[in-house]
Amino acid sequence: MKVMKFGGTSVGKPHRMHEVANLITRDEESKIVVLSALSGTTNALVEISESLLRGDRQAAKAQIDTLHAHYKSFVLELLQQSSSREKANEVLNEHFEFLTIILKISFSQALNKDILAQGELLSTKLFSIYLDEIKVNHVLLPALDFMTIDSYDEPQVGTIKVKLAQLLNKHKDKKIFITQGYISRNAKGEVDNLKRGGSDYSASLIAAAVNASVCEIWTDIDGMHNSDPRIVEKTFAIEQLSFDEAAELAYFGAKILHPASIWPAQFYNVPVRLLNTMQPDAKGTLISEKAGSVGVKAVAAKDGITAIRVKSSRMLLAYGFLRKVFEVFEKHRTSIDMITTSEVAVSVTIDDDVHLPEISKELEAFGTVEVDTNQTIVSIVGNEIAETKDVMKQIFDALEPIPVRMVCYGGSRHNVSLLIARADKEITLQLLNKGLFKL
Ligand code: ADP
Ligand code: ASP
Ligand code: MG
Repeated sequence: MKVMKFGGTSVGKPHRMHEVANLITRDEESKIVVLSALSGTTNALVEISESLLRGDRQAAKAQIDTLHAHYKSFVLELLQQSSSREKANEVLNEHFEFLTIILKISFSQALNKDILAQGELLSTKLFSIYLDEIKVNHVLLPALDFMTIDSYDEPQVGTIKVKLAQLLNKHKDKKIFITQGYISRNAKGEVDNLKRGGSDYSASLIAAAVNASVCEIWTDIDGMHNSDPRIVEKTFAIEQLSFDEAAELAYFGAKILHPASIWPAQFYNVPVRLLNTMQPDAKGTLISEKAGSVGVKAVAAKDGITAIRVKSSRMLLAYGFLRKVFEVFEKHRTSIDMITTSEVAVSVTIDDDVHLPEISKELEAFGTVEVDTNQTIVSIVGNEIAETKDVMKQIFDALEPIPVRMVCYGGSRHNVSLLIARADKEITLQLLNKGLFKL
């Protein structure tokens, strides 16, 4: 069995959805097809939620109506038969009625999650109606029946595996299963999600749970590029990456993959393929245990980073100081990305600043605390990069005009990370592309 995940642009136009149907019927292997919401939908749902949070029901109503109109014309192009159009309009009415009802309910986080779930519910139901119309035998599996997260918002492959196996067992004669990416049920049994871009994570979790032959991530580009193609002009697709390399790139900002989407596939050793729906026969990127080659492969950047420096003369020759500092972050369930130390100071970075005020206050007990917001981590990733000759020289030669706030080298054998101001990100990526890839 394999997993095929199609992202927002891959299902965002009726003719794209038709193409997805072609792609999933090209071979005989059983498959679980994971769909995102149509492109733009989750953003629109976020905006509806924000209007409701502000108490601006009029704006929310207008946004809901615009979205409904978009889906009505989508259905007209997607489907040809009047019976399937009728079914699709019933689905639209059901979901848009729900959105209209919530206009009258007071806003809560649980309601917000319900709103955000509508996109994937709609895309999968519409796709299923289209498959019926063209007579492709399939089953629609509700992700909310098997994709669960625990009280720390962590998905547990073991639980997902049991639930999914039970569902699949009911349809032993079927070969094509369609399900929603992104959405999940939390420990309280409420509708929740795996955070923005989470359909990749759903696909990898499902692939791990069913021990898939491959987890295919179909998107709008021909694989993982050596740098962010939205910022750097000359980039190229990488043919092969190790799980470690791909995990670092995803975690450090390569938008093509959700930050956590590699670990399930890696842990259960399921190869991942990044493929392009617009060029289905292009090679794409294969992510597996093998790295293919040694040295710099790609650069990624992650924004929204906060750097915290704790300076204390008490750190001098003191043991236990770092433990106390780390305990503060642990207490507030805030993970640290980069760390550098000197004899009298420690600097760390975090990407989640929800508890920053409490963290800063508690750190003040140990010394002077300086906080820099709006920073960016730039990660240079490649198998055995730390042992590759000249790599640091090339990086620093390329970045001569850029003030670098922190450098992490040697923590991982596959990554060198730099902290820079967000304002310097574009130029940094461009200079690294020239310096490291000679492009
Ligand atoms: P989907 O909707 O299919 O999940 P995303 O928009 O989430 O697609 O991810 C694909 C996009 O990621 C590409 O269109 C590209 O602009 C962006 N991207 C950023 N960094 C990279 C990279 N290193 N390699 C490839 N794509 C990247
Ligand atoms: N639809 C969700 C989002 O836009 C999940 C995804 O596309 O992966 O974030
Ligand atoms: Mg995505």
